[in-house]
Amino acid sequence: MTENTDISTDKTPKPVLNFIQEIIENDIRNNKNDARVHTRFPPEPNGYLHIGHAKSICLNFGLANKYNGKCNLRFDDTNPVKEDVEYVDSIMEDVRWLGFDWEDRLFYASDYFEQIYEFACQLIQKGKAYICDLSAEEISNLRGTTTQAGTESPYRNRTIEESLDLFHRMRAGEFAEGSHVLRAKIDMASPNMHMRDPILYRIIHTEHHRTGNKWCIYPMYDFAHGQSDSLERITHSICTLEFEVHRPLYDWFIRELEIYAPQQIEFARLNLSYTVMSKRKLLELVKNNYVNGWDDPRMPTICGLRRAGYTPESIRNFAETIGVARRDNIIDVALLEHCIREDLNKKAARVMTVMNPLKVIITNYPENQTEELDAINNPEDASMGTRKVPFSREIYIEREDFMEDAPKKYFRLAPGKEVRLRYAYYITCNDVIKDPETNEIIELHCTLDPLTKGGSSPDGRKVQGTIHWVSIQHAQQIQVNLYERLFTKENPEDLAEGEDFKINLNSNSLNVIKAYAEPYLGQNSVSGSKFQFERIGYFCADYNSTNHSPIFNRTVTLKDSWSKMQKS
Ligand code: ATP
Ligand code: MG
Repeated sequence: MTENTDISTDKTPKPVLNFIQEIIENDIRNNKNDARVHTRFPPEPNGYLHIGHAKSICLNFGLANKYNGKCNLRFDDTNPVKEDVEYVDSIMEDVRWLGFDWEDRLFYASDYFEQIYEFACQLIQKGKAYICDLSAEEISNLRGTTTQAGTESPYRNRTIEESLDLFHRMRAGEFAEGSHVLRAKIDMASPNMHMRDPILYRIIHTEHHRTGNKWCIYPMYDFAHGQSDSLERITHSICTLEFEVHRPLYDWFIRELEIYAPQQIEFARLNLSYTVMSKRKLLELVKNNYVNGWDDPRMPTICGLRRAGYTPESIRNFAETIGVARRDNIIDVALLEHCIREDLNKKAARVMTVMNPLKVIITNYPENQTEELDAINNPEDASMGTRKVPFSREIYIEREDFMEDAPKKYFRLAPGKEVRLRYAYYITCNDVIKDPETNEIIELHCTLDPLTKGGSSPDGRKVQGTIHWVSIQHAQQIQVNLYERLFTKENPEDLAEGEDFKINLNSNSLNVIKAYAEPYLGQNSVSGSKFQFERIGYFCADYNSTNHSPIFNRTVTLKDSWSKMQKS
């Protein structure tokens, strides 16, 4: 009976930890860094954030929240040529929108330029860094290959005094770009290419978005990132896998400078099917007008997803669901779409809209009569209430909800068949009116059964189909942007020699149409309002300075290919 008193037999299931949480909990148990947890999200302000960054944001801020720690926002702004305040502002907006708060901990690597310059001087003084006068091309040629050692620079053994003097003069602006660089003196034969006397500083005569013209030498990302983490006393410096091979270099800097050592932990970056994620490629799409800006709803950027109708909750939930991995993989974009469907299913008001109208005349309904029928705003959430939908003699239904020669299994409208008009009446189709010249169907004549008002029959008679509709005289015409995925190929970057990823762009990724909506939609949409257009998909109202009535962007269709895959 003794085993029952052993607390280790406690049956309550422990939540499963991911490998980063395991490392952190272990560190807390060992009282490492006084059990502090301090992370950071360190974007370079050279583009807009994308869904991959969202994963990193959720991870870093999420860990800080979970372990009662802190998370900094730090801009790694070491390259003035590519960076801009436009990006800084958008990044702050996106992090906040995702629901995270850096409180008073907003930092910039450029705030540390003086300190990082000091670090560089220290390395020179220790004989661990030198000024090299080789050109970028010469440096690259002498680097060797993964199988062959590199060749030492002829400037490698220049005196400490000479290097220090040259470094001061580089800072003073005496030299042209490319004429000198500062390099670490490590090991040109190291099997790790990053250890082969990497460049620490280069001359760039470009104004910086924060430091203006104060500097004309800038630290390389590799020489700024780790030291910035150290200065901020970051405990767990979480980054993507490609930085694993940089870790020995970061550790070397920390050791040589004898400063506080954060622990770097690498995880697999998020890749999504049917998507490209690199900022360079996204910038190319924007610059060459393949899309309408960084916030085009087809873009995987956070601002693009927002305009498409994605919610912060759905993105956080997606990040949580995919978790963190140690090996590269590709996540199915259908999972992201599944996450937004789940969220909008709970939140979005339903409305009836007709995308491709076919006129229906209810011949036994009086010409001047209208009535208001009750409709449920969201069957998932009774608190969202009901609304009135106007009904009259002439309505639109979807063209694809009618077939003249319908097969047996077709449950929508056909000659002689009865269907339910959602929230209205049962109607039966009696006549099909065609254009005598083109033979195109132009209208249907139907009759309704007045006893079926509200959509059910007192005699228990069943109909198999329910279709949506709008009253023509009450309908509001709206512009709808039907977005599809931006790429046709699951992996747009899987290319043959000489091919460009843009060949995989979907030429049909945007269809603009005019649709008809019940009045409730126009009366209840502000910018960003989300709706389910019944039987069609989720849509988000998008106003901007040029359109005064909203455009509705399609977020996703209703067909959930992710759920289907999980069930089969
Ligand atoms: P890209 O390669 O898309 O241009 P980047 O890595 O250069 O992105 P940074 O601004 O340096 O962009 O990234 C800021 C943070 O976001 C880094 O910690 C980086 O590791 C993380 N991050 C960037 N892309 C992804 C991704 N696809 N998945 C997860 N984290 C990412
Ligand atoms: Mg980067």
